[in-house]
Amino acid sequence: MNFFTPALLHWHAHHNQRTLPWKGIADPYKIWLSEIILQQTRAEQGRPYYERFTEAYPTVHDLARAPEDEVFRLWQGLGYYNRCRNLLATARTVSEDLGGKFPETYEGLLALKGIGPYTAAAIASFAFGQPHAVADGNVYRVLARYLGIFTPPATTEGKAVFSGKANALLEKNDPAAWNQAIMDLGATVCTPQNPRCAVCPLHRHCYAFQKNAIAELPARMAKAPLRQRFLHYLILEAGGEIWLSRNDDMAGIWRGLYQPFLIEANEALDTKTLAAHPDFRKLAPDVGALQYEGHLQRKLTHQALDIRFFRLRVSGKPAVLSGNGLWTRPDHIAQLPLPKPIALFFEKKAYF
Ligand code: SF4
Repeated sequence: MNFFTPALLHWHAHHNQRTLPWKGIADPYKIWLSEIILQQTRAEQGRPYYERFTEAYPTVHDLARAPEDEVFRLWQGLGYYNRCRNLLATARTVSEDLGGKFPETYEGLLALKGIGPYTAAAIASFAFGQPHAVADGNVYRVLARYLGIFTPPATTEGKAVFSGKANALLEKNDPAAWNQAIMDLGATVCTPQNPRCAVCPLHRHCYAFQKNAIAELPARMAKAPLRQRFLHYLILEAGGEIWLSRNDDMAGIWRGLYQPFLIEANEALDTKTLAAHPDFRKLAPDVGALQYEGHLQRKLTHQALDIRFFRLRVSGKPAVLSGNGLWTRPDHIAQLPLPKPIALFFEKKAYF
């Protein structure tokens, strides 16, 4: 018998104080919902979203039937909107094709949109007691430090190494407890900075603690440089209405969300240089003078965004604007799903 698993489970049974609204539940729909919300999102940030979603859509059928704009509106602020698109697609598959029942096997779960190895293992173990170990950032950290694994977990090789170790250590008689225990230990004791080794149940045999190697583990990959983008949003106003269009760019970060008229450039433009831009000139001759309204910086995982807002009153509605857009009253904007920085701008400027 290894030392790791009994020590971890003893700690979980007697000292684990972490409380989360989705902890201990066995409903695969709610487990799935929490796991999708928590991908790339901290538990504390995800908690209110989980509560809003489960209140608005208590069952997978409710979510499957919900209008897309409404679901995106509820998701607003979590980012990574592909997750929301996949969430809806999978809700519809489960509701319409599988009679509302999630598959009970790891492989069956993996076949659903937006469900990768981690989420499939979480649902399979928490809802159905299947022996699959989860491997997320918390698990990688505990295992890298405890076992002294210097392969970066973000690599393909690393993922295979960590998944193999986790499954070898997993308590097969109670995979749900083991998975919950290691994730909670990583989140509350073996934290990225200043881990609390003195109260850690593993410290007696922990490689990093014994060898003073905590700062080096888990090993990191060199970061790819951020792509810098300059987005200029023109708030077009005509007859008390504002123009917003749905972003249908397949490669776009905010696909499916509404945004004002966008001009993207290789550098930040001021009112003069923006007015000379070919996309701006397409709006002519019906437009007035540009007015600078504000500026935001945002960092995403792979992109740095420089976002500038300009206001432009137009006497008529420019013919070039058509397709997937709409003219809307300012008090209706809050009903539409918007990227967070754009929602912030409208809120700050008291449009709604
Ligand atoms: S002893 Fe410290 S470094 Fe090792 S697993 Fe526990 S908290 Fe993490």
